[in-house]
Amino acid sequence: MRYFILFFWLFLIFSQSNLSYTYLKDSVFPLLIKNPDKSPVKFNEQSIIVDWGKTKRILSIKLIDQIQKNISLLSGKEKLEYLKGYFFQNTPFQKNPFQPKYRRPLVLIDPGHTACNFREAVYEKKYLSIHTHDPLLQNEDTIRFYEAYYTGLTAYILENLLRTEGIQVMLTRNPSGGSAFGVCYEEFLKNREYFEKKFRYAFPKKNSKKWNDPHAYSREIFRDADLRQRKHILENTDPDIVVSIHYNVDENNKPWISSVNKNYSMAFIPGAYDSIPHNDTSKFLNFISLLLSNVIPDSKKLCHHWINFLQQNIRVMPAHGGEADYLKNECLPTNTRGVFARNLAMTNALPCVVLYGEGFLMDSAEEIQRAKQTMKFQGKDIPISVYQTALAYYRAIMEYLKK
Ligand SMILES: [Zn+2]
Repeated sequence: MRYFILFFWLFLIFSQSNLSYTYLKDSVFPLLIKNPDKSPVKFNEQSIIVDWGKTKRILSIKLIDQIQKNISLLSGKEKLEYLKGYFFQNTPFQKNPFQPKYRRPLVLIDPGHTACNFREAVYEKKYLSIHTHDPLLQNEDTIRFYEAYYTGLTAYILENLLRTEGIQVMLTRNPSGGSAFGVCYEEFLKNREYFEKKFRYAFPKKNSKKWNDPHAYSREIFRDADLRQRKHILENTDPDIVVSIHYNVDENNKPWISSVNKNYSMAFIPGAYDSIPHNDTSKFLNFISLLLSNVIPDSKKLCHHWINFLQQNIRVMPAHGGEADYLKNECLPTNTRGVFARNLAMTNALPCVVLYGEGFLMDSAEEIQRAKQTMKFQGKDIPISVYQTALAYYRAIMEYLKK
C-alpha cells in the first residue's frame, strides 16, 4: 500500500497541468479577494496586470504558463521564495529553480484549541455545559464537554490511520491536549515569563503584563500567541497538506447551555482576503502564489471529498451559507456546498493544500445523543461520530492523493 500511495503521489505531482487563463479568472480569482477593486491584480485582455505599490508587471498568458509550470512542483515555502525572487529581487525568470522533492506526502494535522481539561476549556471559552432538563434532551444531569478534547481525539485517530499508509504526519500540538508551545495552559501560566521569552516572536504585545487574570490572559494574549506558534510550525514544516480540525456550535445559541435542533458541517480553503496592504510583502506573495498555483482547486477537491464522506459516514449535511453570519460576511462560497474560502491564520499562512474542517455542531441535540455511543480505538473510548469524522478526513486525504 505504501508504494501504491507513493506512486500515485509522484504521478499526481508530475502530472499537474497548468490552469487555463479563463479558469484563473473565473474560478480562482473570485475566491481570493472579497472586493475585486482592492485586488493587487487585474485581468485584462489575456493578461494579468500586477499593480501593487511600486510593483508593476504585466503577465502575458505565456509568462503565466511558465510561472505555473515552475511553481507547480514546489512546496509552499519554495513557491514563496521563487515568487519573491521574481517580483522583488528581479531574479530573471528561471527554469527549475528548486529540485522537486521526491518524498512521501507530508500531512500536518492541526487539532484546534488547547485545553488539557475542562477547567482550561473554560479559560479558553471553548466548552459546552448543557443544563439539566434540556427541552430536547430531557437530561437529569448537566452535560459538559469541550472542543479541544474532540479535536485532539480526531487528530489522534487520523494520525494513526495515515501512518499505517506510510504517509508522513506531523502535528501542531499534542493530541492529548496542550498548546502549540508543547505545554498545557495551566503549566504555561506557572512559568509565563519563561515561555513568553522563549517564544518571544509569538508575543509581540508589550503590554501582556497587564493581563493577570487567567481568563482574560487566555483570550487576550494566549489564544493569538498559540495561533502564531501554529503558523510558525506550519511554515517550518512546509507540508503538502494541512488539516485543521474543529467542531462547531450554533452562533445564535450562546452561551451554549441548551441544545439546538439543527446540524451541519463546513470546510474552509485559503483566500477571501480583504485587501493586501502595500507593506505586507508576504501577504502579496501568498496571494500571487494562490492565484497561479493549484492550491485553490486542490484544496477545493480535498474539502469536497471530506464533506461528501462526512455526509455518508454520519449523515451530517453541509452548510448552505445562510446558517451563520460569518459565512455571509467573512467567507466566499465555492461551487461545492459547505466549502468556503476564508482568511484564517491557518488557511492563508502558506500556499499549501488546506482542509480546515468544522465537523458538526457540538450543541446539536442529535450529536449530544449520539456521543453516548462509543467504540474502542486502541484501548480508548471514542464517540462513534468522532471516529467517523476522523475516518472522513482519512478517506478524503487518500482519495485526494489518488487523483
Ligand atoms: Zn474551533
